[in-house]
Parts: sequence; C-alpha cells; structure tokens
Amino acid sequence: MARDYDLTPKRVPRVETLFRRIVTDFPVPESIPILQRLQAYEPVAMRGQPPVVWHRAEGFQVYDAWGNQWIDWSSGVLIANAGHGRPEIAEAIQRQAAAHLLTNYCFPSEIRSRLVERMATLLPEPLKKVFLLTTGSETVECAIKLCRSYGAKAGGRGKHVIVSYDKSFHGRTLGSQQAGGIPSLKEWIANLDPGFVQIPFPDGYRTADNSFDGFVRALHEHNVEPRNVAGVILETYQGGSAAFAPVEYMQALRQWSTAHQALLVCDEVQAGFGRTGTLWGFEHYGIVPDLALFGKGMASSLPIAAVVGRPDVMDLHPAGSMTSTHTGNPVCCAAALASIDLVVGENLAGKARQTGRVLHNLLRSASTRFPQIGRVDGKGLVAGVACVVPGTKEPDGGLASDVVDRCVEKGVLMFCPVGFGGGTVKISPPLVISEAALVESVAVLEEAFAEATVASSAARPSSAARQ
Ligand code: PMP
Repeated sequence: MARDYDLTPKRVPRVETLFRRIVTDFPVPESIPILQRLQAYEPVAMRGQPPVVWHRAEGFQVYDAWGNQWIDWSSGVLIANAGHGRPEIAEAIQRQAAAHLLTNYCFPSEIRSRLVERMATLLPEPLKKVFLLTTGSETVECAIKLCRSYGAKAGGRGKHVIVSYDKSFHGRTLGSQQAGGIPSLKEWIANLDPGFVQIPFPDGYRTADNSFDGFVRALHEHNVEPRNVAGVILETYQGGSAAFAPVEYMQALRQWSTAHQALLVCDEVQAGFGRTGTLWGFEHYGIVPDLALFGKGMASSLPIAAVVGRPDVMDLHPAGSMTSTHTGNPVCCAAALASIDLVVGENLAGKARQTGRVLHNLLRSASTRFPQIGRVDGKGLVAGVACVVPGTKEPDGGLASDVVDRCVEKGVLMFCPVGFGGGTVKISPPLVISEAALVESVAVLEEAFAEATVASSAARPSSAARQ
C-alpha cells in the first residue's frame, strides 16, 4: 500500500543540473499549508503520493512554485505521452473553449465525429466502432457489459464468466475492481460476483509456467467450462510490474477466444498511444483483440477514454442505451485530436522504442549490480524494476518506497508503487524525454538504490516492522 507521508520538512542535499533543481527542504515549508488543506478536506485515501505540489509541467519536467524542478518519470500516471503542457494541445483546448461549445452530451458534434473517425482509422480491423467515455474504469465496466451481452446472445445466460488475471488492475468501480486481481483492494465488496475469475498471469517470473496450457489448467481448477466464458480481459502489460505475456501465449489465447466465442479484451489504458514503442500495445503480440480500452495517454492531458471494438459487438445495445454525460466532451475531444496528431506526427512510438532501448539496457546493467533487483520488465518507455529480498522473489515494498522517496528528493519524480506488495519501482516518463535526461535519471535511480540498500541492511533486524 502507498504511504501517508510525514509533512515535517527535512533538509535534503541541493541539486542543480540542466534537468533537475532541488533548492529547498522537502516537503517545501511554504507548501505545507496547501498539503494540510488537502489533508483537511480530502479523504485519507487520496494521500500516498510524494508531497510535491505541482505548479507547472512542460515536456518531461515538473516544476513547483518554489524553484524546484524534476525529471518526470510518472507522466502524471502515464497520461502525458506527448509531453506535459504541449502548446499544440493547450491551443486546441483554447480554440475549442473560444468557440463556446463546452459540452453537448450525446447530441452530435463535429469534433466528436472527427475523433471517433481518427481512432477508427488508426486502429486495425475489426476495431472500427468507438464509444467515448471519461475514465479507464468506465471503459472496463462497458467491456464487462459488452462481454456479458455478447455471451448471452452466443450461449445463453450461463455464458457470463469474465476471466482476468491475478495482480491486474482495471479500476476502482464495482465491476472493474472485481475484474482486477489484487484481493486486498476487493475486501470492501461484500458479495463478490462468482462470475469473475482470476488466473495466474504468464510473466515467466512470478508465474513460472508461462505456457498456454496454464490458461486451460487454471480454468479447469476454477471449475470454469470454456463454453461459459463470455470474455477474457487483460492489461496488455501488467500495470503493477510492467510484465508482458509471451507472444505464443497471446496468439493461442486469441485462437482460443475465437473458438469459444469469448471476447478478447485488451485493457490498453496504460499501453496505448505509443507508450510501449508501438502505437498500440497489442501489436507486440501480433494479435488484434475484439475490444480495446483506452484512457490515460489519449489526450496527454484532459480526461477522456474510449472503448473501441468490433462493430457487431459495439452495436449490441439499442439506441440510447450506452450513454455517458461527458461522452466526447468537445474540449476533451480537441485535446485528444491534438495529442494524437503529436503522437503520430512525431512518431513518438518510434521514439519510445529507441529511447526505451537505452532505458532497458541501463536498467539491465543496474540489475547486475544490485541483487535487490529481482527482475526488470517492460518495453519502450515503461519499465518495472522489481525490488526483492536478495536471493528470493519476495517483493520488498519497503525498499521500493525508499528508492522512490530518495529519487524524488534528488529531482526524479515518480509515483509511489501500489499493488502486489508495492515492490515495483515504475518508470514511465513522457515519450518526449531526451536521451540525456533519461541517462541522468537512471544514474539517480542507481544512486538511490545504493543508498536505500545500505540503509535497509543497516536496519535489517527491524525491517519487518516497516512493511
Ligand atoms: N486499466 C488500467 C490498465 C489502468 O492502469 C487504470 C488506472 N491506473 C485503469 C484501468 C483505471 O483507469 P481510471 O483511473 O481512469 O478509472
């Protein structure tokens, strides 16, 4: 779990490079009233991220109001793919606002027509119908509804099982949380729907057997008949670890889903729009899902999300029965169109692939120096560095949090790891990060690892208390 940060300012070393600037204590003393106001009026559950008060963000950098400057490894939370504060996106938002059309519900608008056409044109067959929503969780809810509607039509009411994966994260609403595979996040749900089943994710590390036989075996162990499966939903890579499934597994899953009339759903909320070095994450597998879900990086800024799918599936519900108050909000559509133009026009997927190679080489080399790095996952500009107790695969959440804190204090901004034990340090900078900034930030990560591992072995006898 993420932590509740102590708001007592402490002295941290000053940093001054081309990309990073730390010139105050941390948290910044002047920021304390803001942090306290948030604590007073927001639920405790909103705490947990390092107490950096964002003032301005541009490109791959985040600034506070007191002279500090970070290299951003968060992209917010994988939002700012085209870079923070891009003028092209800000101008598109301003133009739309100046046109005095700020909302139009599901009534038609020209700008919404352009966005859905753009998405459908960019995506491969058969992903040709687009339903715009606001958040990733909503896209997952919609996918569950479509899978179950399709299943009922193809095989009757019994064909309703949604298969998803252990350790996956699909959102925090009732359905998306049940599709997720982190039990601690579901403790509040009194009556879990037995039609949601999670099976091991074939990452070849936490799950040693990454063959497709494991899928078939897991269904059997859960007493799920293949003919009762309405849909299989997976994050294109697991958000918690950045791990991908093997290509052969995904191709076999594609065939299995088709053979059993189960919809294959790729949750691309993190993986879409160039993040992994291809425009769409599922391209790595050489497959096309029946439904693809997008959010986060779609506008590199404003809240907009989309379910894109096979027309026969997307058209299962009659007119007026799949609506959302803010669907295709015109200002969000303007931001999305501008961001997509940047991602495509500047070939940011290609850039992520190229810069990602540098990142992964550096991380692999770091992992040879630190036995606490159990594994490095990811592709393109997403990476997960698994912190473990040396010689084991046991996640070390305390170490991961300590590394993140030290990085933030040194001018590399990251979000605090959550999920299974919180043992992963996640790296996901805007795709426009320069190679020089990336190299500098990995050096900071290594510095943080060196300090944190010394601190953790010094504190070894009481380390259990920190978990
Ligand atoms: N799916 C994935 C893969 C995600 O990473 C997230 C958010 N972290 C969601 C769905 C939920 O998106 P949102 O927070 O916009 O509801």
